[in-house]
Amino acid sequence: MSDQTLGSLVETAPPKGQNILERISTVLSPQDGPHPLHAPEIDGNAWDYVKDCLDTGWVSSVGKWVDRFEDMITQTTGARHAIATVNGTAALHAALYAAGVRPGDEVLVPSFTFVATANAIHYCGATPHFVECEAQSLGLDPAALDQYLDMTLTCRDGQFVNRHTDAPVRAIVPVHCYGHPVNMELLRGIVARYNLTLIEDAAESLGSFIGDCHTGRFGRAGVLSFNGNKTITTGGGGAIITDDELFARRLRHLTTTARAGDGTELIHDAVGFNYRMPNLNAALGCAQLETLDSKLKSKQILAARYADALEGLEGVSTVTHPKWGRSNYWLNAVLFETQQARNAAFSELNEAGYQCRAVWTPLHHMPMYCDNPRMGLSVTEDLSARGLLLPSGAGLLLSEASSSTDR
Ligand SMILES: *Cc1c(COP(=O)(O)O)cnc(C)c1O
Repeated sequence: MSDQTLGSLVETAPPKGQNILERISTVLSPQDGPHPLHAPEIDGNAWDYVKDCLDTGWVSSVGKWVDRFEDMITQTTGARHAIATVNGTAALHAALYAAGVRPGDEVLVPSFTFVATANAIHYCGATPHFVECEAQSLGLDPAALDQYLDMTLTCRDGQFVNRHTDAPVRAIVPVHCYGHPVNMELLRGIVARYNLTLIEDAAESLGSFIGDCHTGRFGRAGVLSFNGNKTITTGGGGAIITDDELFARRLRHLTTTARAGDGTELIHDAVGFNYRMPNLNAALGCAQLETLDSKLKSKQILAARYADALEGLEGVSTVTHPKWGRSNYWLNAVLFETQQARNAAFSELNEAGYQCRAVWTPLHHMPMYCDNPRMGLSVTEDLSARGLLLPSGAGLLLSEASSSTDR
């Protein structure tokens, strides 16, 4: 190759690469791959704490690690009470049930979420009523919801009901999607106007805040998940956070099979659930929470690198934290111009060792929820067709995050 052609190549080649694969390769090296979507990062005191459970035989649903884990959750989130559960789905079910969601009720919930959010409503015998999301946070759209509820609800004897179904609309479950906070400032006005019970699905948003307030703390209760693919893990696990002491006591009771009495006899005074987190899982959770800050930092750096690397790439935009809150960047989402372009990138990146996944399939497209009441969901359908999730685990850049924390 002559000096001249080399010169013109250097001039015309864009510095960051022409397509998404080249751009992503500048963030995560292909040699270090494959890069999983979100692998758990087991670190710190995990081995010591879990070994303590094994050595002492305290492995099941009570023990000091459960208490300690719940304390740590209250410290991390600022909530007054935390009840650790076997998983996030059980936490959602128990919270909705304890909040009085009953058969025949409708509960407002985004269609753009993990299926567990709607399932927990269904477990209460209630009907998920699907609402629209917006493009900035991927969470529910308060402005569109306000208009819709104004047309759809009517007040009967102090209770708002759906005009079309006559069902009481009891509660709302916003989801802080991929860690990005929902616009709770706007949503809270709607919650008050229609007298809704607010239970936040904060399963994905541990470490996400609006101002000084941790997500999950805006209503009656919030729900966290510590599944293996979440920001921290207990293997499987979840928690309910709340500031309401009576509600916390009721939840503790209900999730521990509603045991009553002084322990002499085995008495249960209600139909409860066997939903408390085992000590073994809580021990792992304590070690994981101890290193939460470095995990969050690592995710912050990764999100910034992606945004920087993809800047100016035609046909691709990154989803960053909304202007009203701070995100934990649980998963990094990008939007393509068309579904075809999304699917092509999905194949190309996966083949190159970058494990990607399509964003949520709308729940109203699934057979068990396709006939549920819903508002117009065109934004949900559009985002669902064009969104792709990139490798996002804290372990991908953790060494850099901890070295910058040390300094
Ligand atoms: C992970 C998750 C849950 C709870 O999941 P579990 O696996 O039961 O802990 C609930 N809602 C959303 C949005 C989630 O991402």
